Amino acid sequence: MDYKRNISLDFSILYRCMHKYYDLALNDLDISAAQVNFLTIISEEEGLSLVKLANICSFDKGTVTKGVQKLEEKGYLTQQNNLIDKRVKGLYLTSKAKSILARLFLVKQNWWEYLSKDIDINDIKHYLKIQEQLVNKAKNYLDMENLVNDIKFFGLQKTTLLDYPHKLAATIFTGGCNFCCPFCHNSDLVFLPEGMKELSENDILNFLESRKGLLDGICISGGEPLLHKGLKDFIIKVKELGLLVKLDTNGYNYNYLKELIELKLVDYVALDVKNSKDKYAATCGLKDLDLSNIDKSISLLKENLVDYEFRTTIVKEFHDISSINNIKIWLKGAKRYCLQAFRKSDNCINKSLNSPTIDELNEYKKILETDIKEVIIRGL
Ligand code: SF4
Repeated sequence: MDYKRNISLDFSILYRCMHKYYDLALNDLDISAAQVNFLTIISEEEGLSLVKLANICSFDKGTVTKGVQKLEEKGYLTQQNNLIDKRVKGLYLTSKAKSILARLFLVKQNWWEYLSKDIDINDIKHYLKIQEQLVNKAKNYLDMENLVNDIKFFGLQKTTLLDYPHKLAATIFTGGCNFCCPFCHNSDLVFLPEGMKELSENDILNFLESRKGLLDGICISGGEPLLHKGLKDFIIKVKELGLLVKLDTNGYNYNYLKELIELKLVDYVALDVKNSKDKYAATCGLKDLDLSNIDKSISLLKENLVDYEFRTTIVKEFHDISSINNIKIWLKGAKRYCLQAFRKSDNCINKSLNSPTIDELNEYKKILETDIKEVIIRGL
C-alpha cells in the first residue's frame, strides 16, 4: 500500500529527526531536545515556575517535574524561592547551564537553517504563521472531549432510491472505520486524509429541513457510523424532522446498536456480514478479530425488533461455495440477505480484487435460499 502524506506522520518525522540531530550534536552534554527547550525557555525568564514551564511546553506537570529533576541532577538547574514572590519556587539556570547556553542556541539555529535552506522566505513566513495557528489549536486539546464525542460527516448524497429499500432518501457518510476491508470502496472515509472537507451537522440538518415532505428518510453510512458517540443525538434531531433512519453498520459495536434499536431511533439496519467466521478477519483486512460482538449483533437483528437486512459484498478472492455455505448456517432463519457484487473502483483499498461472475452469484443465491427467506442480488 502507498502511504499518503499526512500531518500526524509529517510532524512525527520532524520530531524524531530533530531528536536524533540533537542527540548527535549534544551527545557530550547528555541533554535531550525537550531539555534544550526547558533550558532555553528558562534562560529567557529566570525564576519561572514549574507550572508555567509546563503550560508553555504543553506538558503535564508530572512530565515537566521529571525533566526538571533530571536537569537538576545533571547540575544544569536549581529551584529556589522566586526573588519577587517568595511563596513560589522558581527555576534558575546554574553557571554550568549558562556556560553551554550559546551552544544550545547555535544547535537550534543550525537545525532550522538546515530545514529551511533553499525555501523561499515568504513561504517560510506563511508556513510559520499557519504552524502558530495549528499549535494554538492543539494546545486547547482539552476541548477534544467534545471532539471525540462529536460526529464527523464527510459526505452527503442528496437523493437516492438505492440505499434505503423502497424509500426516497438522502445518504450521509460518517468518517472513520475500525475495519480496513480490502474491497472497501470508501477508502477516504477509512483513512481520512487531512485535507478532506468535513460537513457540519448544522449544514446537514438544514438540508434535511429544506427537503421535509420530499424525502422519506436518511441512510447513515460510512465509514462505521457506530464509532461516533454523537450519532445518537444526531439521529434524535433527524427524527424530530419526521424522517426514517436507516443505519449501515459492520455490527462490531453491539451495545450501541442495541441501544439505538431499543430507543427506536433506527427504522432499518443493514448489517455487513463480511464472510464466514473462519475468513472474517482477513476479509476485514485484520489479523485477528473477536467475533463475539458481531455474533450478538446478528442474533439481535434476528429478533426482528427492527426491519433489517444482512448483506455481503461478494469478492472473487474472498468468497466461494464453502464460505457461502458457512454464512448460510450462521444466518439461518434470517428474513433478508443481500449479495452485493463487488465492483472495482479507484477508491478501493485494494485495487487488484475482482468481481464475481453472474453465474457464481446465482449459484450462491440458490444455496442461501434454502435457509433464508428472501435473498437479493444487488450491483449486477
Ligand atoms: S467496507 Fe465498511 S467496514 Fe469495511 S472498511 Fe469500508 S467502511 Fe469499514
